Formats: sequence, structure tokens, C-alpha cells
Amino acid sequence: MGLSPDLILHSGKIVTVDDRFTIAQALAIKDGRIVAVGRSADVRKLAGQGSKVIDLKGRTVIPGLVEAHIHLSYNNVKVIADLDLNCPPEYSTLVSAKNAELALSCGYTAARSAGSVHGVDVALKRAINEGLYPGPRLLAASRDIVATGGMSDWNPSYLKLGMDGLAVIADGADQIRTAVRRAIKDGADVIKCYVGGDALLPHTPIADCTYTLAEVQALVDETHMRGRIASAHVRGARSSRVAAEAGVDSIEHATYADDETLRMIADRGLFLVPGLRYLYSIIENGPRFGITEDIVGPSGLRDEIKQAADTYRRAKDLGIRMCPGGDFGFAWNPHGEYAKDIQVFVDVIGFTPLEAITCATRRGAELMRMQDRIGTLAAGKLADLVVVDGDPLKDITVLQDRSRLSVMKGGRFVTSRQGDYS
Ligand SMILES: [Zn+2]
Repeated sequence: MGLSPDLILHSGKIVTVDDRFTIAQALAIKDGRIVAVGRSADVRKLAGQGSKVIDLKGRTVIPGLVEAHIHLSYNNVKVIADLDLNCPPEYSTLVSAKNAELALSCGYTAARSAGSVHGVDVALKRAINEGLYPGPRLLAASRDIVATGGMSDWNPSYLKLGMDGLAVIADGADQIRTAVRRAIKDGADVIKCYVGGDALLPHTPIADCTYTLAEVQALVDETHMRGRIASAHVRGARSSRVAAEAGVDSIEHATYADDETLRMIADRGLFLVPGLRYLYSIIENGPRFGITEDIVGPSGLRDEIKQAADTYRRAKDLGIRMCPGGDFGFAWNPHGEYAKDIQVFVDVIGFTPLEAITCATRRGAELMRMQDRIGTLAAGKLADLVVVDGDPLKDITVLQDRSRLSVMKGGRFVTSRQGDYS
């Protein structure tokens, strides 16, 4: 066994996303890890017998992307029953595997789940890690933990249907602790709960708050006791406040969070995952799928989208760690369009392309607590990266064109522009 690298990529623009935002020209990979990053002349000197050397011809390399709010088991959801009654576990498992492969081919070498139907994430993560199916490094989420009558509990009682696919209904601290313990027993890394409402669910409008502070504190306490990540869906001011005060690690949306809540999120070092592209997609495409004017109209999503731009700019100014991750999996917001959520970080929230890429890589790795292994391009890190035919620092939308991406996970190209690197 020699010391020479297995692979050297040189003469490119290597966006390291390290502390100093260094732009390098070359990197070397051995045994699935990055062993050197630097100038082409220096890194090329490391080449030995058996090193494969590839000229990037000026292409850009970024760390593998992280989808911070993914639902791999949601597949082309057109009506809300597609999230439960219409999706048996076997089907949910199959579509999850398909979507995992798609996400990887879009440059997403890691993903943090924000909820899965029938808890299929856990088995999917295992199959990916065993090399049975291609997919991102995954943190598996529990089914939604929700109060009686909360957002994910929409079937009225007289139907006697329950919500067994999507949700676990838990009220009061004791039931919530039991739900968390069961989710962890079954393999969840992320404990997802619904504290707030949503325009799409008329029984729980945006402003609703469906858990008390004490209930969410119990969930966070139990989750942290076991070293897992707590996540809460909130949109209105009150639910956002409850999630922040309870110390939920990853706060999803928080569109109407007030200044005090945002300051709390910043001070406590919590993550905010806006999922902003989803709102644009539902306004643009929702009416074609029967989303009605009372949901989209001026006091519904159009108001939320105005508020969203303002809230997330304030969050950015406070230095809150924000990650792209966009609730893809609905008919109006299909899997495969993940990088559109990075574009809104630039176009709407006002991040520079480099900052947006940082949110989509390094911050995502921090949210997943994998920053020692992924998120930046540095010696010692896993070789998870994307070679981009173009320059996302000049045009962030290039990341949406799969035909211009070659994706490497763990030192191996898993998808490649035809004939380029395979
Ligand atoms: Zn979601």
C-alpha cells in the first residue's frame, strides 16, 4: 500500500467552504477521503503509481449538498390523503428508494429527513448504508408526533380511521415521552413534531399552536436525553415562539416568528429551515392541482410569502444558521427540484451565492451533526462532492441542471456526465 492518492482532481475551482472560504484548484482523494486540497502544482506532485489524474478544465467543485428538510416517502402528493390512507408501507418504501437515488443524482450526498410515512426512513437509511441502494447519507425521522387535532391529525373522529401511516398522536408530557422513546427504539435520528398549523390544512390554520410549551419541552428533553435531534413544524408567531423557547434544534419554517423569537433562535444557536421554495411552488403550480383560492389568496399563502421574505432577511441579519430544504414531494413541488430552494436563498433572502452554498453544505452538515466528516472540502473529510460544469458562484441556478453535475460520494463518482469521469 503506497501513500499516493487514488484520485487527483486539478485545474478547477475548488470551493472549499472552509473558515476562510478558500478557493483552491486541486484536491486529492484516498480511500474515500480527501487527503489534500491546494494549488494544482502542489497537489499534482502527490501523484504516484496508480493515481488517476483528472483535469477539471476549469469546472467548479463544491462540497456535496445537504437537503435539510426532505420527505423521501412523499411522492407526487396531490391530495392530503396521499400522505396517509393512499400510501401503504410497501409503496412508501419503494418510492423512498427511488427518491433517494434521485436526490443523490441531484448532488445531495446527505439529507436530513423531516418526517416519513410509516417510519420507512429507518429501513431506507439501512439499505443505503449497506450499499443496497444509492442515496444520500440520511438521518431518519420518526413519524410526525402531533397532538390530537393537530396538523397531522386531520381525519375527523367519526371516520374512526386514525393516522397510523403519517403520525403518532400524543397528548401531554407522558404520552409525548412515550412517543419519543418508541421512535428512538425503532431507529429514528430525528424526532419530528407538529406544533403549528399550515394554510393547506383548514383544521389547523397558520396561526394555530397545538402543543403547550410544557409539552414541547418534554419532547425536547426526552430527545436530547437520547442524543437525537428535535424538529418542529411551526409557521405562526405563537408556535414559533413555543418551539424556540423549548429549544427545538431545527425549527421548520417559522414564517411569522417575531423579533424576540428570532433573537431566541440566534442566542440558542438553533437552526432555521425555511422551506421557502415550497411556498412559491404551491402558488405557481398549486391551482393546477386543485389548491383553491382561499388557500393561495391574499390572506393565505400570498400573505405568508410576503412575511417569509421579511422574516428570513431578519434571521439572516441575526446570524441564524439557516439551511435549504424544501418539502419536495408534492405534485406542485416534485422531487428533483431541490436546488431551487438554494436559489431562493439568493433571490429572496439575500445571501450571496457563496453564502447560500455554505448554507447548503457546511450548515447542513452542522445540522446533521456530521461536520467532522462532511460539509467542507478539507483534508480528512469524506470525499463527498459535486463537480459542476459551470460556476454556481456566478449563477446559482446551474445547480438545478442535473446534466451538468457529476456527483461523488465517499470517493466514488455515483453519477457522472456521460463519459467524463467514470
Ligand atoms: Zn415538511
